[in-house]
Amino acid sequence: MKSHQLISRIAKQATEEFYSPFPPNYKIGRTKYIIVAGSVMSGVGKGIFASSLAKLIKYYGFKIEPIKIDGYLNQDAGTLNPFRHGEVFVLDDGTECDMDLGSYERFLNTTLTKDNYLTAGMIFKRILEKERKGHYLGRDVQFIPHVTGEIKFSLRNLAVKSKADIVLLEVGGTVGDYENAYIIEAIRELIYEEGKQNVCFINVSYILEPQNLGEQKSKPAQLGLNRLLALGIQPDIIVCRAHKPVTQRIKEKISVYSNVPLRYVIGLHDIATVYEAPLLLKKQHVDDLVLEKLNLLRKAKRLKQATNLKKWRRFVKQYLNANKRITVAIAGKYTGLRDSYASILKAIEHAATACNARASVKFIETTNIHSIKDAANALKNVDALIIPGGFGKRGAEGKIACISYARRTKIPFLGLCFGFQLAVIEFARNKCHLKKANSTELDPKTKHPVICILPEQNLEKLGGTMRLGSYPAKLKPDTLVWRLYKKQTIIHERHRHRYEVNPEYVQLLENRGLIFSGTSPDSLLMEFLELPQKEHPFFIATQSHPEFKSRPMQPAPLFFGLIKAVLE
Ligand code: GLN
Repeated sequence: MKSHQLISRIAKQATEEFYSPFPPNYKIGRTKYIIVAGSVMSGVGKGIFASSLAKLIKYYGFKIEPIKIDGYLNQDAGTLNPFRHGEVFVLDDGTECDMDLGSYERFLNTTLTKDNYLTAGMIFKRILEKERKGHYLGRDVQFIPHVTGEIKFSLRNLAVKSKADIVLLEVGGTVGDYENAYIIEAIRELIYEEGKQNVCFINVSYILEPQNLGEQKSKPAQLGLNRLLALGIQPDIIVCRAHKPVTQRIKEKISVYSNVPLRYVIGLHDIATVYEAPLLLKKQHVDDLVLEKLNLLRKAKRLKQATNLKKWRRFVKQYLNANKRITVAIAGKYTGLRDSYASILKAIEHAATACNARASVKFIETTNIHSIKDAANALKNVDALIIPGGFGKRGAEGKIACISYARRTKIPFLGLCFGFQLAVIEFARNKCHLKKANSTELDPKTKHPVICILPEQNLEKLGGTMRLGSYPAKLKPDTLVWRLYKKQTIIHERHRHRYEVNPEYVQLLENRGLIFSGTSPDSLLMEFLELPQKEHPFFIATQSHPEFKSRPMQPAPLFFGLIKAVLE
């Protein structure tokens, strides 16, 4: 489209009440939508439900693209504290996002991009930028139609770009929050504009069971539904999360109350592992109900799904029946909240399952560790040590003490990002006689800045200044890392950090026996390190975050190596 045509189109839209911008080449009905929104309360596993459903649909041979919208005003998740919000997940393209995108990548075994994630902050930023450029041509910019229009545009844009059969939107928070009211309104408009046959709305609700009553209560769920109906949305399917299996009576109540036929009311009670969720949903044919509503059921490849599900069942069985028990320590400072290490926990789980083992995780709070003796105490009865990513001084010396203890006593060790940097510091201090070695992040005036910001990096702001996303690394043949990555010479892992190994110290570290088993392709940045196997059974660290790419049935190589080393 020529620019004057574009401007006149925008002008026309701006003067119309229905400002609903469509991306070029958009065709209504070409892509269908599934909307998943929660009520009653947050944290009931909306993301797990949504990714399980998406998995079943993908197994049928459809191309399904998830997108998560979060109501907070941050422009991405990069500046969020993992202690409050759970881990910051990083995509290949460097997007820092909600950890739910990690669930989608793992469950769907797919790679997502910035188009799969939206925050209120991004939406408003786009609108304010357009406003400054005069895009709205004199109109007052309003929640309806402009903000809702921007949301619909993002969904449609993902539809066109990805050529998906189905776009699945998960709305963060719960219906009734101030934060997402206009998102729910955008969805109401979407259903109106796309047509009922093209959108399936699923409400994930919660059925309470107060202990003193010992029976399930549907009232809070009903109130949630009330809210949804008042906002002009008739749900097509209602998923009732609950502790125990949802009773028929409750389902009937919900059905009558919401105009949703009984077979479209689904129960999803607490299960041993989230891996079982797709199987529980399949038993109730939720995938078929959704596809029927969207008029896509006839295109479902039944054999394909059956074959895929067979493999998945085998994996779930292997997970549940794993008979070897091991203990892996994670030593960090966000140890109070399991969610702050979600991907690492998953990566351990994937690797352990592949080895028929079940790993229990011991969190070690390193702010309390001040000496090797403390470290020895904390690491008693521990089979392996992981030092995860981290920022800042607090707890760092405790982590270094743990690494030192693991190196000396040959406890299998895996350092991730910050853990890699601290392993370099430990080695410099104790094997290279650089007693004062440190990172300039921890001691800006350190005499031996073995970890530092390289001059070519120009970092001023806090948001958006890190080395983010997927970068290639060149592996050194015949190293353990190289063997674990199946002898590939170039591999890719995701990054999220500012500091690097100082090139001036590389030679010295290597002379004293540290092996940098992987570097950036130009050899300037150190990416992997290890100790020779005759000195230590498994001492490996990486500047990257391999945990982000671990998948069920495809564990991340370094985690797999760590667990294998423990079992051997
Ligand atoms: N704080 C370190 C850095 O910025 C490590 C970051 C991390 O572990 N993700 O380089």
